[in-house]
Amino acid sequence: MSSHDSTTATSNLLRGATLLHLDPPGTEKADLRIQQGRITEIAPSLKPLTGESVEDLSGSWLMPGLVVGHHHLYSALACGMPLPSSPPPTFADMLAQVWWKLDRALDEDAVQVSALVGGVGALRAGVTTIVDHHASPNFIQGSLECIDEALGQLGLRRILCYEVTDRGGAEKARQGIEAHKGLMDRDGAGMMAVMVGGHANFTMSDATLSAAAALARDAGSGLHIHMAEAPDDRQTVGEELVARMERLGALLPGSLLAHCVHLEPDDLRRIADAGAWVSHQPRSNMNNAVGHAPLSSFGENTILGTDGIGSDMLAELQAGYFRAQEAGDPWFPDRFCQALSASAVFAGEKLGVDLGHIQKGAQADLVVMDPVPGPPLSAANLPAALVFRFSSSMVRHVMVAGSWRLRHGMPVGLDVAGLDERARWTALDVWRRFD
Ligand SMILES: [Zn+2]
Repeated sequence: MSSHDSTTATSNLLRGATLLHLDPPGTEKADLRIQQGRITEIAPSLKPLTGESVEDLSGSWLMPGLVVGHHHLYSALACGMPLPSSPPPTFADMLAQVWWKLDRALDEDAVQVSALVGGVGALRAGVTTIVDHHASPNFIQGSLECIDEALGQLGLRRILCYEVTDRGGAEKARQGIEAHKGLMDRDGAGMMAVMVGGHANFTMSDATLSAAAALARDAGSGLHIHMAEAPDDRQTVGEELVARMERLGALLPGSLLAHCVHLEPDDLRRIADAGAWVSHQPRSNMNNAVGHAPLSSFGENTILGTDGIGSDMLAELQAGYFRAQEAGDPWFPDRFCQALSASAVFAGEKLGVDLGHIQKGAQADLVVMDPVPGPPLSAANLPAALVFRFSSSMVRHVMVAGSWRLRHGMPVGLDVAGLDERARWTALDVWRRFD
């Protein structure tokens, strides 16, 4: 690295890396010039400009920044929290006995610490954009601003929403809808966007779901909602879920329906025809024992998320691949690579920028990785390498919008030891508040 500080340089030259394209898969040895946050030149050999920061990445691999398509940063302090003595029998019991105890215990400090802790984990896993689905029923107004600020501090892109629900009564549902409006009026400048969140059909009345959908329609943001994650959703509603959303004007283009485990092929077709997206979280589906998603009916509108089980998209992809193989689903490595890339396309549409590509004009969201020695990487075997060869331990540096945000595994401008100390106390506080 030159003496010029490349975290703030206006022009960066990255030389000598092997570029790994994910969409479509491909490899290429090339230099990259980055200016104003975007890739402006890409060629086998570029000469440095005067005053330009130059980084020699010979021998490194360079991949587009990854996107968590469905996350719950609020769960970042969950590991170690008090759990029921035996596994909850149903998904609704799981929510009541585990996740809703956690989100009710979150105050402003806990929301902020969760976002910072989750954001650090994301950078370390090569993630540059998080699509978050947030709940903190005792700190609703201002919660999205709090997450926005924390992720902004880390330099991460974010697409935020609040999980609107009637589980705390009509007044909290109204506050949940209102919580979106502060950030909606702001210009996210390609770094932040707001969707309208809904928890799930089975915790939202017709009136609440209609009101959330109306705001999403007016804002053109789409709705971000859990959909048929477990059989409880449809059973409680007593109506076919896609039909209900159609009836309430809630199946909007650009919406994101998380899980979709218990839907029929025709439901999934209608979702795709409406221009909505589906997100797949295989580790969460296994952890909550909600069933295996009908992958053979999931279309090109499918993206990958973690549902709050950290931010490691390579680990998610790998777990998903092995589960699909076990189930006999025709989802091979190239199909998972496609869904991983679709997460960046989805996020790019929300943020109004080109994400997930290493090409001229695309955003400079890049992950520098230490190579794993082995067979030559090629367009043909890169998807299989994602499954069988890659891991987040390879991540060395991360750039977002042309600025280095992780250097040698450490977030830039953040006291990680101080955050760890704070997170320990905050987690104990949160767990003490469990009722
Ligand atoms: Zn979720």
